[in-house]
Amino acid sequence: MSDMLRHVKPAVRAIGAYALAARQAAVKINQNENPYDWDEPLKRRVLEAALARPWSRYPDFDPRLLVERLAESSGWRPDGILVGNGSNEMIEALLLVTVGPGTRIVIPEPTFTLYALLARILGGETIRVGLGPDLEYEADELRRMRRELAAPVTIVCSPNNPTGGALPVEEVERLCGDGDGLVVIDEAYHEFSGQTVVPLLGKHPNLVVLRTFSKAMALAGLRVGYLLAAPELVREINKARLPYNVNFFSQLAALAALEEWDHLKANVERLVAAREDLLHRLYRVPGVRPYPSRANFILFELSEAEPRAVFESLCKRGVLVRDVTSYPRLSRCLRVSVGSEPENEAFLTALRHALEERRFARA
Ligand code: PMP
Repeated sequence: MSDMLRHVKPAVRAIGAYALAARQAAVKINQNENPYDWDEPLKRRVLEAALARPWSRYPDFDPRLLVERLAESSGWRPDGILVGNGSNEMIEALLLVTVGPGTRIVIPEPTFTLYALLARILGGETIRVGLGPDLEYEADELRRMRRELAAPVTIVCSPNNPTGGALPVEEVERLCGDGDGLVVIDEAYHEFSGQTVVPLLGKHPNLVVLRTFSKAMALAGLRVGYLLAAPELVREINKARLPYNVNFFSQLAALAALEEWDHLKANVERLVAAREDLLHRLYRVPGVRPYPSRANFILFELSEAEPRAVFESLCKRGVLVRDVTSYPRLSRCLRVSVGSEPENEAFLTALRHALEERRFARA
């Protein structure tokens, strides 16, 4: 039998896929989704607008109206904005045009794993900068690495997934000013953090910002994300974007999200308050160390109980969180997304029971 796999690049065969086991649960708080789905009248408005369009026709080659609205809402210029099928697609386009065999990419660790995965597929060399003792960003170390290696690309998720910490705006500015390598700031969770580096774009042409409609905007199912950067750079990244990458239905929904931002923002504020409440209640659970978060999730460490066993106990009780034990430094950790108030209650109750059960199991 012929070995067709020998035609696949060795770098690809050497790595594991970015995958998530499909599990069902009554309380699903494992993917940093927004628990507050859009109400029906708003969904209907988008549906009606979609009904009025011919589905047989391609969407606009460039989603011009959406780009203009994004320029208004973000305060950045329209020719410096690129829209994608989720921010994942913009991450891919960006790396496709910047990373080749041997390209050095500085990236903190642990962080969102897609970056290192794509970089390896493209033959790049990821240089990982560890987080500090409390899983905070080590800004000086990032800057030092980037300078020493003259790294063409440095990537920082701010807030970081799965730890929740953010890199202060002043530190991003220092990074950008220190050499001309690209500084990519992934702001997937920025609405929950109250900080953004978009105002730095005018001063720093090497800054790239990524954002998504999947979290604060509650549109993960429709896949819309965007990239903001200097127009010259955006023109190059645009070459790697697939034609018609954002279908018109998703464009209509994204436009509605921007129009309805005042309503959606109320849910973001509710989630931020719920996050702080959850954090303080987790501090009081014996054997649990939660990490402060600027996003819509909380990472927590289990000092005694085995995290995978706790994960399974939670599942048995209908609560699905994220097992992050395979991430470097996080072998004792789980991550929980902030849900609705009843979901957060259900999680806390299930966690207390799961820890109690583990204690008995050991006794
Ligand atoms: N960046 C970060 C840091 C994320 O956590 C995620 C989602 N898990 C994404 C990007 C991708 O978001 P999307 O493709 O849904 O826009």
